[in-house]
Amino acid sequence: MLFVRSSEYNRRLEICRNCKFFEASTQSCGSLIIGGEEQIEVLYRKKSIHLCGCVMPIKAKLSLATCPASKWKGLLTDEEKIALIALLDEIESTGKIDDTQRNQFYAYKDQITQAFNERSTCSACIKREIKTMRESLKSS
Ligand code: SF4
Repeated sequence: MLFVRSSEYNRRLEICRNCKFFEASTQSCGSLIIGGEEQIEVLYRKKSIHLCGCVMPIKAKLSLATCPASKWKGLLTDEEKIALIALLDEIESTGKIDDTQRNQFYAYKDQITQAFNERSTCSACIKREIKTMRESLKSS
C-alpha cells in the first residue's frame, strides 16, 4: 500500500475534523459503514454525494483515497488512475516491461509518493511494486 507524507495526512485529517459530515464518535466520514451497509447520500453544494463511512485516520493515509465531497483529493486524478491501470495490465499481459513503460510506471509512482523512486531493473522487484500499486488502486 502507498501512503501519503505526514504533512498531507495531517492536512486531510484537519479538513475532515472540520467537516460537517465528520462523525467524531467513530472518526468516520458520516456514519461508520461496516461490511456491505449502504453509503449515506447527502446534499453538498446542491449535489448529491455518498459519504464513504470510512474511518478517516486510516483512509486519510492512503495516497489514492479521495474525499467524496472533493474537499481533498487523491494524488492521481480518475483519468490518471485509468491510464495507470491500463499500463499495469499491459505490463502484466506480456510479462515484460520496456524502458517507456518503466519510465511511465515510475513517473506515476513518484507522483503518488511525492518523492523520487529509484528505477529498478529487477523484474521480481517490479512485480512486487506493481502488486503494491494494484492494492493501492483497489483501496482508492
Ligand atoms: S472525507 Fe470529505 S466528506 Fe468525509 S469527513 Fe472528510 S472532508 Fe468530510
